[in-house]
Amino acid sequence: MRCEWCGDVFDRPNRKGPAPRFCCQAHRQRAFEDRRMLAAQVATLTAERDAAWKEVETVATNFATLDAENTRLREALQHIYDHTNRYENEWHVARAALVPQAREVTPDEQ
Ligand SMILES: [Zn+2]
Repeated sequence: MRCEWCGDVFDRPNRKGPAPRFCCQAHRQRAFEDRRMLAAQVATLTAERDAAWKEVETVATNFATLDAENTRLREALQHIYDHTNRYENEWHVARAALVPQAREVTPDEQ
């Protein structure tokens, strides 16, 4: 038989019961401690992984909100820009129509 802890070959002490997995009680204990330590590490990593995914979810949600707001702001900017451009064009047309008489009246001429 081969010990699952040290890998040494050992003789089965007796034929009764299930086959032993370790050459001695100390190696059986160390294997148990190793498994316990690994289980604790897995638990820690699981918690960290879960927290990281939660963070991803939060950032993705915030991103979606900001992205939607950004789209609305861009549309609002385009809207006000279009309006202002129309006023600008109307102003140019109106001013051009006034050009022959377009002389600023100074305050002392009033
Ligand atoms: Zn052993």
